[in-house]
Amino acid sequence: MSESKDFLRVKIEEDLKSGKYQNIVTRFPPEPNGFPHIGHAKSICINFGIARDYAGQCNLRMDDTNPTTEDTKYVEALKDAVTWLGFKWNGKVRYASDYFPKLYDYAVQLIQMGKAYVDSLNEEEIREYRGSVMEAGRRSVYANRSIEENLALFEGMKEGKFKDGEHVLRAKIDMSAANMKMRDPLLYRIRHAHHFRTKDTWCIYPMYDFAHCLSDYIEGVTHSICTLEFENNRDIYDWVLDALELTPPRPYQHEFARLGINYTVMSKRKLLELVNGNYVNGWDDPRLPTIAGYKRRGYTPESIINFCEQIGIAKANSMVDVAQLEFCIRDDLNQKVPRVMCVLDPLKVTIENYEGEEEIDASYYPHDVPKEGSRKLPFSREIYIERDDFMENPIEGYHRFTPTQPVRLKHAYILTCKEVVKDANGSIVELKATYHPDSKSGSDTSGIKTKSAIHWVSAKHAKQIEVRLYERLYKVDAPENVEDLNPDSLHVNKNAFIEPSVICEKVDVRFQFERQGYFYADPMDYTDAHPVFNKIVGLKDSWAKKAEVPEPTMKLEVKKVHVEGVITPLSEAEQKCFDRYTKELELNSEIANTLARDEKLSSFYEATLLHVKSPTTLANLVANEVARELKKELPLSFGATEVAELVIMLDEGVISSKIAKEVFEAMVHTGEKPKAIVERKGLKQISDPAIIAIMIEEVMAKNPENLAKYKAGNTNLFGFFVGQVLKNSGGKANPALVSELVSKKLKQ
Ligand code: ATP
Ligand code: MG
Repeated sequence: MSESKDFLRVKIEEDLKSGKYQNIVTRFPPEPNGFPHIGHAKSICINFGIARDYAGQCNLRMDDTNPTTEDTKYVEALKDAVTWLGFKWNGKVRYASDYFPKLYDYAVQLIQMGKAYVDSLNEEEIREYRGSVMEAGRRSVYANRSIEENLALFEGMKEGKFKDGEHVLRAKIDMSAANMKMRDPLLYRIRHAHHFRTKDTWCIYPMYDFAHCLSDYIEGVTHSICTLEFENNRDIYDWVLDALELTPPRPYQHEFARLGINYTVMSKRKLLELVNGNYVNGWDDPRLPTIAGYKRRGYTPESIINFCEQIGIAKANSMVDVAQLEFCIRDDLNQKVPRVMCVLDPLKVTIENYEGEEEIDASYYPHDVPKEGSRKLPFSREIYIERDDFMENPIEGYHRFTPTQPVRLKHAYILTCKEVVKDANGSIVELKATYHPDSKSGSDTSGIKTKSAIHWVSAKHAKQIEVRLYERLYKVDAPENVEDLNPDSLHVNKNAFIEPSVICEKVDVRFQFERQGYFYADPMDYTDAHPVFNKIVGLKDSWAKKAEVPEPTMKLEVKKVHVEGVITPLSEAEQKCFDRYTKELELNSEIANTLARDEKLSSFYEATLLHVKSPTTLANLVANEVARELKKELPLSFGATEVAELVIMLDEGVISSKIAKEVFEAMVHTGEKPKAIVERKGLKQISDPAIIAIMIEEVMAKNPENLAKYKAGNTNLFGFFVGQVLKNSGGKANPALVSELVSKKLKQ
């Protein structure tokens, strides 16, 4: 989010400037013992991203020093993940096992220098001798072996003369070191096991602490970037490289915070348990945080890279909200994919006054997406609508189809309900309706008002498809084990109906199913005969909804409607209008009065209302901003469409009400479209709780004194924190949300 460089890049630039290195070489060093997950994606983005930014190289190296858990299928999955994310490793894939002969020679060298010895204590004794944080350890008696004896024993270990655990090779460092890891760490152990690459050539294997630093050195790595849990291993890393007195330059280790995401497990061990225990359907199950899972679900590499960039590189571990990842995929697909109609829970509607069939030309993309294309939508007498888009006894505020409330079929006509057909149990099985021939979208002269548009498909032409709907895999935000799994994480719906163009035209593999979310043709199971779609993500953050984010509202500038104390009574038509506004649309009487008394205003209001869902937001804008312009009696530089566009942005939280006024001013002066103004001026409001949460963290981290003061009772500082966040966001953060989240955070 901020333009400033992360600490790794700062260090790298220093090292280049000082001439410590001429070329930057990084590496991504996974152990091939499981499929890579989103945490690895972060590491991939860091290592490959740095190499790209400094015209260096990044190696892909399999850290395959543990023969019992590793496998080629994991190697393939790792290569696949890096490639899918769009990166290229330098040269061929490297393997720590390729360096086994060199590593052995380095070990011999250490023994010859008197810096390593063969120890014959057993595992338990080794642990006991190591001491504790509070007390120094004791050195094993075997540490006194002569160099010759050590060389002979180490060779015997290699020759297979001993059993597992009989001897180990240890570095001779310091048994009382404060860093426990430095108390004569193990360098080699005996393991009579088959390795997936070196087969049975070796029966001794180097430990991570010995193999990693030397593999880095052998490859000419300059910056060895790893996660924080290796902080204490850094001393060994340095010791090994220095002890061997290697020709410079040598690599240095730098640690960053590993990625954690709520509602997600990210350890390969836990993922392996899910796969092997059949809690999920393989490593590429779309509910898993594996790259293979995201890929199968329909995530794009761009969205994952954006996510990794957004969360940045930190030195302290923290938890990222999974909503932020979902935001990134939504944000990416919004600009890319065609919009189509699919009914997930069909309710048949027979249009009694419609004969024959027709094809409606419908754009694949809304006007704010810079892509073109349209398809023919077949329309006929029998259609399916979504079951919950009809309510026989509607609750208050229900804006869709009811026995008395007509509804618009998206891209098509307005329907009026005539009859509700039920089965013996009283369940609705069908609706009978009539359509209004003069209400066709784009050329509607019917004058019928509807409050919303719903999606539909022609029953005869629609294709039946299977959709797989995913919920979070875990029901708790910090899952520990399989007991925390969400039992409802997968819903398979085999009775969804989609418009035919999706199957026949193949404009894309990802779609927005209008009003439902983003979907992806399953790359494994999809066939034209049996189409299967995965739900990638919903249209809205269902999470944010739960947090009850207040809707942005326009501040009212109360208009004087009574001139000099004289109240002119409303005419009959005006009264009717007034009643509709206050009762049906629930506008406040002040605003309703302003609109109802002015024919120009009310007709502008009505025309715009056709395109938007929030009568109140629109009414405020028309009664204030639009009214002011109309009074000037000059030709208007905007129409209903433009005002609707503005209201939709307000409703969707893209802009704040304060910004809306600014945009309106610009519309009046330049005649530009509101979207274009918002883009050009960068006025988008930030309403993603996850992003705001990060801004709050930043502000709190920068102001520890004020935080302490607040906690000590100075609650006046609440405003300071809110103000700082708003300021840092350039006035773009949603103020209500900021204040809600700051308040929550301060209570923690
Ligand atoms: P896990 O605990 O999931 O098994 P790991 O660290 O053992 O992960 P490796 O295959 O050894 O997995 O990791 C390869 C690289 O990816 C290492 O450099 C590691 O630091 C990095 N990495 C692994 N998990 C994460 C994470 N959650 N966030 C950032 N980087 C990670
Ligand atoms: Mg590991």
